[in-house]
Amino acid sequence: MSTGPEDFDDTSDQPGEGLAERKMRFLFALRSRGVTDTRVLTAMERVDRGLFVRGLFADRAYEDMPLPIACGQTISQPSVVGLMTQALQVNPRDTVLEVGTGSGYQAAILAQLCRRVYTVDRYRRLVREAGELFRQLDLTNITSITADGSFGLPDQGPFDRIIVTAAAEDPPGPLLEQLKPGGIMVLPVGQSDTVQSLIKVTRSSRGFDYEELRPVRFVPLVEGLGSE
Ligand code: SAH
Repeated sequence: MSTGPEDFDDTSDQPGEGLAERKMRFLFALRSRGVTDTRVLTAMERVDRGLFVRGLFADRAYEDMPLPIACGQTISQPSVVGLMTQALQVNPRDTVLEVGTGSGYQAAILAQLCRRVYTVDRYRRLVREAGELFRQLDLTNITSITADGSFGLPDQGPFDRIIVTAAAEDPPGPLLEQLKPGGIMVLPVGQSDTVQSLIKVTRSSRGFDYEELRPVRFVPLVEGLGSE
């Protein structure tokens, strides 16, 4: 889940509007909220958010808002997905770790931009359902794993890029350790349900640089595996 302070909804469906128009307005909303990187916009144009939202909320998939998914979780607001992806500065040869698979939408976008994505979630069900979508979309460069992502994936790391889509109080130590020198990690930090900041951590030869990007609201990073 993610909402910005400017989270008014100017993308809600207009009566009689077709899918093509809705998708156009979706992309326009991304641009007007600061997603300007053309590679990111192209990736977001290619990945149909409508496939990642099921049930009651499916017809709101092209609105710029977070929506409920299974296991009491949320698919993030598209403009926040775009801004996080942009801040991550992904290169085509990168290996990326995502903590918080959720619907799989963010991972599918990353998969357009890099060599390999490892995505982990604490709910087996979310990992399974996202994995089915990745197969359906022929996204063979995504590996989805059920795990507590706060420990990262020591066997697969280190990573060029790490993105966390659930909020911890501080950047988890194992994730900092699994970031390559020159690597970038983007994550929300702060007490859950109060003010959180999206931050960008860059690892240099001297240590870690921290940059605060904007206020956000995400579901919390929770320890251990989920029940479903
Ligand atoms: N990126 C997702 C949105 C994720 S919502 C998308 O594009 O749809 C946050 C997700 O983080 C939830 O699915 C939640 O189960 C997961 N999560 C929370 N704590 C976690 C942990 N410790 N390890 C792995 N996943 C975690």
